[in-house]
Amino acid sequence: MRKTAFLFVFLVALSFSAVAVAGTTYLSMATGSPSGVYYPVGRAIGGLITKYLSDVVVNVEVSTASVSNCEAIGKHAVDLALVQNNVATWAYIGRYMFKGRAIKNLRAIATLYPETVQIVTLKGRGISVISDLVGKRVSIGAPGSGTSIDAESILQRCGIKLDSLEVYHLSFSETVRQIENGKIDVGFITAGYPTASIMNLASRSKIELVSIPEDMIKKIHASYPYYVKIVIPKGIYKGLGHDVTTVSCMAMLVVDAALPSELVYNITKSIWGHINEIYTVHEKARYITLDTALDGLSIPLHHGAEKYYSEKGILK
Ligand code: GLU
Repeated sequence: MRKTAFLFVFLVALSFSAVAVAGTTYLSMATGSPSGVYYPVGRAIGGLITKYLSDVVVNVEVSTASVSNCEAIGKHAVDLALVQNNVATWAYIGRYMFKGRAIKNLRAIATLYPETVQIVTLKGRGISVISDLVGKRVSIGAPGSGTSIDAESILQRCGIKLDSLEVYHLSFSETVRQIENGKIDVGFITAGYPTASIMNLASRSKIELVSIPEDMIKKIHASYPYYVKIVIPKGIYKGLGHDVTTVSCMAMLVVDAALPSELVYNITKSIWGHINEIYTVHEKARYITLDTALDGLSIPLHHGAEKYYSEKGILK
């Protein structure tokens, strides 16, 4: 939420971005690309909060996703965000790309749904398992995305050096566009399936999803426990005639620790009190349940959310 020098603006705090204007608190939520899943799910969650808290309005913003969303929370530039659980933990403890710049004000409200590492190409390009990527033109995801972190970690654990590929850093929509144009061969997209950008590609071209062999998945999981095996079922995209084995992590809803506990308690309550209203926005929205809200949680809960889960008796 923006700070403005408006006559009726009362800053509720200087340490976070939310502002109260004539009794209404404006919050901002960072999501992802419109062709991913964070954006529609984030819009739906923001819509629930705005609908059920009469004095709160959530503005939902497009972004390059997990890494930049954690950074935005760190700078108090946004109040809420959707991020991958592996990226959230690295941000919180200051590992890998967050080395020396841990984001200590990152707090969880809930884990949401599984996000799958989808490696997309076209049939006939001779690419069906991850080792086939060597020597190919590969989009590893936009700078600031969780996707690019997934691609780098997974390739490294599979023994594939980045300099053995021609690497491109493209968004979801650019990745599928350039695959279709023949400018790149293959691209990583970490998002809940079915993902709009891949559906669009599959509606026009014969797609293939690349699998990761079981022994590689074991290595990936041993080094990075937040990645777990998942099977993308055949038929989920037009023309996908076989199951595809890969890995997934979890999407989380995170919040700036500086937000008042009562506000975060009310946000948490408004989401769980009405979650079934958003189940039609995307297939993965149905995975967002109170029962699984704490599964795969990788950073501390905000005190306001903690109070809600304690009351519900589900805090483990
Ligand atoms: N998990 C992706 C990332 O952080 C974004 C997924 C989405 O937009 O649905 O890069």
